[in-house]
Amino acid sequence: MRSEHAVRLINVDSRLAIERDGRALDVEHASGGRFSCDVQAVYERWADFRAWAAQVDGEGQPVDEARLGSPVPSPRQVFAIGLNYRDHAAEGNVELPDIPMVFTKFPSSIAGPHAEIVLPADTVDWEAELVVVIGCHAESVQPADAWDHVAGLTVGQDVSERTLQRKPQLCLAKSFPGFSPLGPALVTPDEFDDPSDLEIGCLVDGVQMQKARTSDLIFSIPDLVAYLSSILPLWPGDVIFTGTPSGVGAVRNPPRFLRPGNELTTYIEGIGTMRHRFRAAPRHAHGESEGINA
Ligand code: ZN
Repeated sequence: MRSEHAVRLINVDSRLAIERDGRALDVEHASGGRFSCDVQAVYERWADFRAWAAQVDGEGQPVDEARLGSPVPSPRQVFAIGLNYRDHAAEGNVELPDIPMVFTKFPSSIAGPHAEIVLPADTVDWEAELVVVIGCHAESVQPADAWDHVAGLTVGQDVSERTLQRKPQLCLAKSFPGFSPLGPALVTPDEFDDPSDLEIGCLVDGVQMQKARTSDLIFSIPDLVAYLSSILPLWPGDVIFTGTPSGVGAVRNPPRFLRPGNELTTYIEGIGTMRHRFRAAPRHAHGESEGINA
């Protein structure tokens, strides 16, 4: 499946760029204005962009990690899948679902691959996830055609506030600002020998917490695109968090959660690595004791 036309798309200071050999080529400049600098807008013209990107030449500037934003900054829909690895379902002592267990992470929680993330509570956990980005309108897609509707893959963290999650308040518990970091690049499927079998993992302060292969997904990428698109349309630039493997902090004995100053490193083979620092929130940051009882 690997091809020389594979593209690595990045967001440098909120401008669309192509990454090659550690250098960033600004798309608006290199295309003479044919494609705008707007990162999210490129997914609306994905086939045109791919054709252009495959033949463009140019040197570009060295990539400065600190300036990278999300390669998908403002999708219209963000889907996330729960319990999509057997070992993660087993560690939580829950039964495997018959159909994908779907929830949303609200788009305001999206952040870049090196952002600082505020901890709203002392029970915030990590979930390394492979993230799929949709490349064209998808409705009632068959599994065999699903990859044709995928722009590419990126690394995601489904950061989760477990106390709020158990209220239960699943979508909000996973949607605090910064709780959906994505990056460092959007990589087209033809960059990989097999885009369905990649090592994924995360570390806290250098200690490995999760390590798995995406071939262990219960519902594969084609399964997820087919299932979601059988119910509603998927739009270009929509995002699917595909679920996390075992090794989250909440089910450890004793439980382990993120603390101010911790560095969370999240990687997927062939895509890249994100690094996030966590810091404490000001007290009463999310209205806990301010009369919100609903
Ligand atoms: Zn998750």
